[in-house]
Amino acid sequence: MTTVYVDNAATTAMSRKAIEAYLPYMDGIYGNPSSLHTVGQVAKEHLEAARERVAKCINADPNEIYFTSGGSEADNQAIRSAAYFGARKGKKHLISTAFEHHAVLHTLEKLRREGFEVTLLPVGPEGLITPEQVEAAIRPDTALVTIMTANNEVGTIEPIAEIGAVCRKHGVTFHTDAVQAIGHIPVDVKAQNIDMLSLSGHKFHGPKGVGALFCKKGTPLQSFIEGGAQERKKRAGTENIAGIVSMSVAMEESCSNMAANAEKEARLRDRLIDGLMQIPHTKLNGARYTRLPGNVNLCFEGIEGESLLLLLDAKGICASSGSACTSGSLEPSHVLLALGLPHEVAHGSLRLSLCEWNTDEEIDLILQAVPEVVTYLRNMSPVWEELEKGERPHLI
Ligand SMILES: *Cc1c(COP(=O)(O)O)cnc(C)c1O
Repeated sequence: MTTVYVDNAATTAMSRKAIEAYLPYMDGIYGNPSSLHTVGQVAKEHLEAARERVAKCINADPNEIYFTSGGSEADNQAIRSAAYFGARKGKKHLISTAFEHHAVLHTLEKLRREGFEVTLLPVGPEGLITPEQVEAAIRPDTALVTIMTANNEVGTIEPIAEIGAVCRKHGVTFHTDAVQAIGHIPVDVKAQNIDMLSLSGHKFHGPKGVGALFCKKGTPLQSFIEGGAQERKKRAGTENIAGIVSMSVAMEESCSNMAANAEKEARLRDRLIDGLMQIPHTKLNGARYTRLPGNVNLCFEGIEGESLLLLLDAKGICASSGSACTSGSLEPSHVLLALGLPHEVAHGSLRLSLCEWNTDEEIDLILQAVPEVVTYLRNMSPVWEELEKGERPHLI
């Protein structure tokens, strides 16, 4: 049985180029970039070349890039740093949205317990934030606005440049979790008025366990891992050179092929949406067009997302019910609840996240398998029977 992998928002497979860029550091280039001798300095040159590659993809300066262990660490550092620097000036108000990644939401929740005040903006049924909403929430004591560039579950794309402009106008630091956006849609930290940005290698065919934080020159950054002077004293620890170089190559590759990849993915995405929306009592989650080229997120009434996933897996289709981080828990997705879906509907969700390697034949397989499995599950479901008999109202 062939595997159809459509869970690229959870993680991607490494590209051939990224693997080839990784290997020399396992076999040959082993120096510590902090060593003064030649072996160390060779590693240092490779590290700095990677920093330039990453910076270039988002129109930043290389000295504004700090390598981290991934998107979660970058989010934690950016948010805590801006919060603590704000607090020193008496600013203890933080603004975000209700449907951020848990790396953001859980950090904000901890800060709230430390005495910060957090405003989570509602995202509305389309999963979109407006710059006006952000402006209305900004107060004299606001230290930070953190809003994701693209949502990891429903793929909606926020108006980052406009939100950044509002923040700049009011002198508020603006951070964006761009983990789902980098390599998939254009990101330009200067044009989009971004002060801090998080990215992660494994969401664009790079390796796992490596990411970066962009921090604009002049925006203060606090270190949370104490030790050596690596990353200009903002992140101690001997650098993961293999991961960093490989990520930088993957980033360059996805950014230079972005337009062609997006066109291909959007065409496959639209085939999936148009095809699967034919299933009765099905809802597309998130805005129809203001979404990532590879994201499909649907709810099917009367079924459990988990059962759907297991039956699809048995047919070789690897998908998700939403975030990989909440799978395994019985709570429905906080993202779908933020979009206003009732619990019982949010439970029946399916996220298909594509990459440029997916094919029309794979889409054909999905378009055949999903309706079969949905029908099978509905036929066994007592809830569906009640819905069909009119004993309970259809919600979608
Ligand atoms: C995957 C993801 C993260 C976490 O990145 P890791 O590198 O896995 O720590 C953070 N935010 C978003 C939006 C993501 O999709």
